Amino acid sequence: RAVVHWFKMDLRTQDNTALALAARMAAENGVPLIGLFVLSPQDYEAHLTSPVRVDFMLRSLRVLKNDLAKLDVPLWIETVDKRSEAPARIVELLQDWGASHLFANMEYEADELRREAKIVRLCAERGIAMEVVHDTCVVLPGRLKSGTGNQYAVYSPWRRAWVSHIHDNLELLELLPPPGQNPASTRLDFSRLFECAVPVAPASKRLDPEAAVRFEALWPAGEHEAMKRLEMFCEEKVGGYAKNRNIPSVTGTSSLSVHFASGTLSARTAVRYARDRNNTKRLDGGNEGIQTWISEIAWRDFYKHVLVNWPYVCMNKPFKPEYANIEWSYNRTHFEAWTQGRTGFPLVDAAMRQMQHTGYCHNRCRMVVASFLSKDLLVDWRMGERFFMEHLIDGDFASNNGGWGFAASVGVDPQPYFRIFNPLLQSEKFDPDGEYIRKWIPELKGVQGKAIHDPYGRGAGEQARKAGYSEPIVEHKGARDRALTAYKKGIASG
Ligand code: FAD
Repeated sequence: RAVVHWFKMDLRTQDNTALALAARMAAENGVPLIGLFVLSPQDYEAHLTSPVRVDFMLRSLRVLKNDLAKLDVPLWIETVDKRSEAPARIVELLQDWGASHLFANMEYEADELRREAKIVRLCAERGIAMEVVHDTCVVLPGRLKSGTGNQYAVYSPWRRAWVSHIHDNLELLELLPPPGQNPASTRLDFSRLFECAVPVAPASKRLDPEAAVRFEALWPAGEHEAMKRLEMFCEEKVGGYAKNRNIPSVTGTSSLSVHFASGTLSARTAVRYARDRNNTKRLDGGNEGIQTWISEIAWRDFYKHVLVNWPYVCMNKPFKPEYANIEWSYNRTHFEAWTQGRTGFPLVDAAMRQMQHTGYCHNRCRMVVASFLSKDLLVDWRMGERFFMEHLIDGDFASNNGGWGFAASVGVDPQPYFRIFNPLLQSEKFDPDGEYIRKWIPELKGVQGKAIHDPYGRGAGEQARKAGYSEPIVEHKGARDRALTAYKKGIASG
């Protein structure tokens, strides 16, 4: 009888909890291991998965399929049109293959948990054991409790607890082995499964040929690339991370988010790898760059813990109910100017154009554009959250929702009265020479000096206008006052 591992966003063989368990069970019982991946075009629509993300995932699947084939482990890729069909189809396949066990890593979003519950039930009815385990976070959601016994809603005390929990449970960072060779007979018994090809993207999520080539060059896929990028980052960049991580013109961050989002790299591996290059085994000591980088990976865990504890954040709701009464604007002209990088605020526009062109945007810029949309334009943050998911290659529900919650002050620890970014000051501080702006806004290439941050306000208006660069669509000071009034009014009436 076979053992099956169901791959989801864990497209790797190394350090994969459910896969390691499945492989061990198969080896101990001398039975074959089979990999399964289920693709649902309707699911991509429902979850706003961006075409670049689908493309990255399919390319990663090809790498995974090759790696598994070398171990004589087949990877079967099943397409179901409707996502509601997935549970029944999975169970049918398990029966066809005579599988006794199904293993999978848990995904914490509401739809995924409901789907898993259904499969557990269907499997149980047919005498198949299903084991769904924690894998994506370094520390299991629900493990860390504040002094009052609740989930932390504030990052800093949560991070201290996260670090100390790992120090007390170092096995959390142990490397899990990849599967071994399947029994020799597997190729004969399952030869049909090896023939299953990785499909092309569904029509609504397909990149045009030019974009496909560009994204493949920008974002090489698969777990070997992830490891290469991790090694390179830890060798060359992590030392300067604390200093450079906020400067968008410098490649000072790891660009590994796409790999965490697709599971081509595990967060445990990243933390362990960085820690092992430090001069201390503590996660909160030694090299400042390494410490800071690990604390950023902790943000990823933090937002997943928040999602698990307060699942209603998956349902378009603000974290605090009183924030549901803020009166948002639905001004299409403003929203479109924002999406197209034509707001007249150079840093905002550069960031949005970077996202459209590369499927990625620097963290500092994500905060600036999210604050600009929700505060300067007072546009409903959910429209921005959605737009990010539809365009990012690293789109991850918990991190995206958490980032929007932070910048739009509708998430945990909202701070609406203190956290309003001034896009011009942010630009002067984090892109002082305008290098990032000039890279993404060709209209402003010729603008010299400080005028680059605010061409119309600093004497380069004529030049900007001639080059076709938009005038500011709002005035920041007035927009800030309007936002403060709207937040106060909304919260008071909530
Ligand atoms: P590095 O600086 O090298 O950090 C290492 C890793 O730590 C990242 O790859 C990421 O996994 C994690 N990380 C870093 N910062 C954060 C953070 N603020 N929140 C959560 N995890 C973090 N990240 C996503 O992965 N997917 C998203 O959809 C996403 N949407 C965002 C939306 C908004 C509005 C904001 C403000 C942030 C969002 N982020 C998201 C977080 C962050 O911007 C990216 O993770 C980061 O820019 C990725 O670049 P990097 O891999 O070079 O990061």
